[in-house]
Order: sequence, then C-alpha cells, then structure tokens
Amino acid sequence: MSEVLNQQALAQYTNNFLKEVEAHVEEGEWVKMCMQCGVCAGSCTFGAHWEHSPQKIFMMIRAGKREEVLTSDSMWMCTSCYNCVVRCPRKLPITQIMHGLATYAHRLGLAPKDQPTRHFSALFWNNCTQTGRVNELKLTLGLYFKNGLIAGIKQAWTLRHIGLGMLLAKRLNPFELLKGHECEDKAGIQRMLKKAHELEHKRRRLG
Ligand code: SF4
Ligand code: SF4
Repeated sequence: MSEVLNQQALAQYTNNFLKEVEAHVEEGEWVKMCMQCGVCAGSCTFGAHWEHSPQKIFMMIRAGKREEVLTSDSMWMCTSCYNCVVRCPRKLPITQIMHGLATYAHRLGLAPKDQPTRHFSALFWNNCTQTGRVNELKLTLGLYFKNGLIAGIKQAWTLRHIGLGMLLAKRLNPFELLKGHECEDKAGIQRMLKKAHELEHKRRRLG
C-alpha cells in the first residue's frame, strides 16, 4: 500500500494545499464546497473524541495547514457510518474524503506511525492481495505480534478461550498457517491490481 510520491511533482502545490488535495485526494475536489455549517461535526458518531472534526479538517485544508492535516490522527478514526454524508446540506462525500486524506497521508509517509487503524489497514492489504483471499489466522497473529514476541504470546494467552472455542466450532483452522485458501488465478489478481494502480496514478497524476 505504501509508495513514494514524486516530491518534485508536489512542489507545484507549495502554499496551495487545497489544490494539492483536489488533485491527489479521492473526492478532494469537493472540499471547497464546504460552507462550514458544522452539521457533520455535530453528527459525527465519535467526532467529539477526535482532535479535528471533518468540518475543521476542511477549514484547515483551505487555510493551508498541510502538516497539521496530514499528520493528524482524526481521518483514521472515521468509522464510515455515513451519518455526516446523509446530513451534509452541500452533499459532500465526507467519508470518502476522510479516507482519501488518510490514504494520501500514508503514501506521503506523514501518517502517524503507531495509529492502530493505519497498522491494521496495511496488514489487511498485504494479507489479502498476496492470494486474493484473507488469511484470518495470519492476520490475527500479525496483530497480536505487532509489538514483539512477548507481547504477542501474552495477547494470545489472554484470548486463548476464544481461540479454543473457534477451533472447536471449526471457525479456526491451524493449518491455514502453512497454506491458506487462495484464489485460483493469483497471477490474474496481481494483474488486476497493477492495472488499477496504473489507472489511479493516471487519474490522480501521482508521481
Ligand atoms: S456538513 Fe457539509 S457543508 Fe456543513 S461543515 Fe460539514 S462538510 Fe461542510
Ligand atoms: S462517516 Fe466518519 S466522519 Fe462521517 S460521521 Fe461517520 S465517523 Fe464521522
């Protein structure tokens, strides 16, 4: 998921973060339509616990606060509940913009390193794009052991009853560790992803 963007190509946006967002962030061209009414901020399910509400993020983009926006934890907290989208009087695709900003920050290497959603997203993406199917056992173990061997063992031990229950209910197959289920045409999946990647780069003019 991570990639290096062409920094020279980004230089053209110096002092114009709104233009940069419009060019590179999914649905970013909508940000200028925000009239700062605050309905999204008041409707956001968990917004009160975030540093910046969507309303504030959009205001900060227009104010050129690039560093503050892209290093923010707030976009990563969006649960995709779409509460804001159905209520926004200007019909902004707020959810998509929030996820688009998070993705863009990740690509630039500016997203908060220890943000749990960012960590899970990267783990999930790497897991499912290898074979076209999610290997739940490897994904779970990847999460358990993200802070090292000892922490992983402790976590697995704490949740052993759930694991055992899943094993007995045949919801957990330990052999998935050796070779999980996968799509028949793995090469086709890789070709499809490569093509999608190329199209996105073309559309977003990513360097
Ligand atoms: S509800 Fe829509 S117009 Fe109002 S502040 Fe939020 S994004 Fe802007
Ligand atoms: S979709 Fe995201 S930003 Fe919108 S209300 Fe839900 S959590 Fe908040």
